Amino acid sequence: MCAVAVASSMSEGVERFLASPKQLLINGKWTGAANGNTFAVYDPATGNEIAQVADGGPTDVDAAVAAARAAFDAGPWRTMTTSERGKLIWKLADLLEAHLDEFAELETLDNGKPFAVAQAADVPLAIDNLRYYAGWATKVLGSTIPISVPFAPGAEWHAYTRREAVGVAAQIIPWNFPLLMAAWKLGPALAAGCTIVLKPAEQTPLSALRLGELICEAGFPDGVINIVTGFGETAGAPLASHPQVDKVAFTGSTEVGKLIVKAATGNLKKVTLELGGKSPNIIFQDADLASAVPGAASAIFFNQGQCCCAGSRLFIEKKIFDEVVGGMVDSANSIKVGPGKDPDSQMGPLVSQEQFDRVTSLIESGLADGAEAVCGGKRVGDQGYFVSPTVLVNTKPEMKVVREEIFGPVVTASPFEDIEEIAGRANDTNYGLAAGIWTRDISKAHRLANRLRAGTVWINCYNIFDASLPFGGYKESGWGREMGAEALNNYLETKAVCVQL
Ligand code: ADP
Repeated sequence: MCAVAVASSMSEGVERFLASPKQLLINGKWTGAANGNTFAVYDPATGNEIAQVADGGPTDVDAAVAAARAAFDAGPWRTMTTSERGKLIWKLADLLEAHLDEFAELETLDNGKPFAVAQAADVPLAIDNLRYYAGWATKVLGSTIPISVPFAPGAEWHAYTRREAVGVAAQIIPWNFPLLMAAWKLGPALAAGCTIVLKPAEQTPLSALRLGELICEAGFPDGVINIVTGFGETAGAPLASHPQVDKVAFTGSTEVGKLIVKAATGNLKKVTLELGGKSPNIIFQDADLASAVPGAASAIFFNQGQCCCAGSRLFIEKKIFDEVVGGMVDSANSIKVGPGKDPDSQMGPLVSQEQFDRVTSLIESGLADGAEAVCGGKRVGDQGYFVSPTVLVNTKPEMKVVREEIFGPVVTASPFEDIEEIAGRANDTNYGLAAGIWTRDISKAHRLANRLRAGTVWINCYNIFDASLPFGGYKESGWGREMGAEALNNYLETKAVCVQL
């Protein structure tokens, strides 16, 4: 799958896409921002501008929400048969599959990730997610409930529940997996019968806009899916506070997640949040190190460390600490860092100058606090936003590098003595998104899994995702779950209907 012939220049499809103005999709039509403004999108491998994109603001948000509202209240989406809705979602997945390489190329260009990764992971997972929820469209069920009503002796009843779409959903997504995050959000909302205003991240709007073209081609009714590109304060905030939006689903930083909660209080819209993490990855001395060490390296270095669930706190049982750290260093040093379009690259650049500055300043803060970089810690090259894979040792629990999400290829490694100690240390974080355990002792693995306060626990593996497996966070890592039946529930209301016979 990964043995690809990567075009060193742009493919025809991407060239064609970039040649047209990058506009907003509102009510089935492409349109510029009301204020006429655009903003630049950059290639993180070079820092060069790739495209100008419509800079949507409050007026555009109003128009997109009005379109979604009309498509929900009066339009064909909610009243369409569930089979027809499912077919359209499936058709979108088919179209995406027909353009798989083009989307992988767009992700590489816009986000920086290696083409082979986008081609093998991001795009296929997005396709699979849409197909999974296409299946759910026909399986949204209520139940019949035998009620007793003690104050009405002798009466007869027929009571049942209906599961109904929550309404207009605002979906605000990040830049680390631009297309996949769009698919995670769109799939369950569409299957539930919601209409949508999607706001991609300002750093990486291109794949969502190309998806918008496929949405039009698939034949979704006007207004069902609207796409507003723009910045957080000017496009995201008015969406999150909009009185005609019934639900907001957000993936991004914990800091902005808290702003979303506040913004949503005006009309008490339903909120789900998938936020940051500082996930523990725990290697016991009885683990199969031949898989645990590369597993731990991939847990942090995959996607340049720009994963909310990255295994960024590595805990190693004391006896094998030096051996595992040595293995991590070897793994880190063997990773080929370079532009995502280069077939040899295994790690691309960070997404932006801002992210580069944040990651490098956190590394510096760690070193200033007394941590030691046993590898990495440096910029790679002199253009683009490349940072070498970094392993920090001699850390203390109160250091910023141990407590704060870095969102870059930086792992802290520290030794532990036993399961009691490690359960406490692993949970010593405000976050609770994911955790990893590596051991051959299956009983120990499950005992520890039960004690970890995290939404996902991977045992002898890491970063395994499936459309059917719920993903989300405890504590400040979020509210609710993505994927699986749980994500569908985020977009449904329950109505109880009670009939006296
Ligand atoms: P990061 O800090 O990693 O860039 P953010 O949480 O800032 O992540 O961004 C994730 C998404 O949230 C992006 O689409 C961004 O535009 C949006 N966003 C940022 N600030 C706000 C805000 N105040 N209200 C709504 N959305 C926002």
